[in-house]
Amino acid sequence: MFVSDGLNINEKNHLTIGGCDTTELAKEFGTSLIVYDENEIRKNCRAFVGSIQKNYNGNGRVLYASKAFSCKEIYRIVNDENMGIDVVSGGELYTALSVGFPAEKICFHGNNKKHSELTEAVDAGVGRIVVDNLTELESLNRIAGEKGKKVSIMFRIKPGIDAHTHDFVRTGQIDSKFGLALETGEAMQGVKTALAMENVELKGVHCHIGSQIFDIDPFELAAEVMMKFIKDIKDETGVTITELNLGGGFGIKYLVDDKPEAYENYMDNVAKIVNKKAEEYSLPVPFIYIEPGRSIVGATAITLYTVGAVKRIPNIRNYVSVDGGMVDNPRYILYQSDYEVVCANKINNEKALTATIAGKCCESGDLIQENVQLPEVEAGDILAVLSTGAYNYSMASNYNRIPRPPVVMVKDGQARLIIKGESYEDIIKNDI
Ligand SMILES: *Cc1c(COP(=O)(O)O)cnc(C)c1O
Repeated sequence: MFVSDGLNINEKNHLTIGGCDTTELAKEFGTSLIVYDENEIRKNCRAFVGSIQKNYNGNGRVLYASKAFSCKEIYRIVNDENMGIDVVSGGELYTALSVGFPAEKICFHGNNKKHSELTEAVDAGVGRIVVDNLTELESLNRIAGEKGKKVSIMFRIKPGIDAHTHDFVRTGQIDSKFGLALETGEAMQGVKTALAMENVELKGVHCHIGSQIFDIDPFELAAEVMMKFIKDIKDETGVTITELNLGGGFGIKYLVDDKPEAYENYMDNVAKIVNKKAEEYSLPVPFIYIEPGRSIVGATAITLYTVGAVKRIPNIRNYVSVDGGMVDNPRYILYQSDYEVVCANKINNEKALTATIAGKCCESGDLIQENVQLPEVEAGDILAVLSTGAYNYSMASNYNRIPRPPVVMVKDGQARLIIKGESYEDIIKNDI
């Protein structure tokens, strides 16, 4: 009935998450409030880790793409689940290291890593740096050399598959700021340059073809293209690349009717291609990395808001305003993303109101969702927006100097604060 198994309804007609009554959480921690369900996060982690075990005899690693939601506690949880992580900035790296995340299980991404960030990554001894371009390759080789280190790298490749749209398209060279193109020879040139360098060791190749993808075909095609590239590298240079990182992008449920593939299906089908191509090309099956972000955390969290003003504009629309908005969830204003919105304290009441959920920012586009079916709501009711675990808090801002909300983790009926809400003092702490 809901987008996640962790959500339920109790005898008071209230929405529950992880066994906690959402209206009680709203009372205890205030709103707006983001609530994650730990059991659901761990369940998702185990589905991916299990599939690496099953399809590759454990010869691979799941890296949580931590840009989806980065904080100390999530790094502790994924570490506990025997996963690695990918980070895309010095800030994410710093956060992970601050809780003792093993550096060798960290993979560092980004299309324009700063000199300082590369230095931090080399100093920390991160396991893999995914090199995006030749400028970065040169800097990294120099930095590693100055420190007397040899750094393990992968290359970010554009496999020529654009799965950002609903129907994926196969293009020769995608218009993307990320990575090196295969088609132009740029990728092969990068490989040869890296192989000749003293302070980098080329371990593997990487691709990431998009996000919130519902089809298996583009993933299969990407695996095929990447295995062919590994073969081409061997043919041209004699070197066998031993690692393949296939990125993330697995779709999740935002709406009850969304039907994402089970992760096992993606993994099983892609593994068949990888294994088949390895045999066909007489290559060893590479060590496989996958990088799920959204699919680990997205559907595991909800955001709770308190209803303020309700404005009925006859024949136009009804605005239900809440005490958050684009500051904690910029995905509607950015992408018109779909969300389920429910009234947490009147969950099964008849839905008689068609409403637009508006945030509190001074910005007309600050909406959470349009044309939502709700019960008749009034000031003080609690709304829950579902599937807000990925790219919500991590994209939050202080627009209008609104403090970021607290984040709570629930598990088996118990709630604990994992990120404090910001205070006004936090808001001015860097002002001089
Ligand atoms: C964003 C990103 C991911 C995760 O994507 P999801 O859609 O959240 O699974 C994985 N790898 C790379 C390189 C990314 O940029």
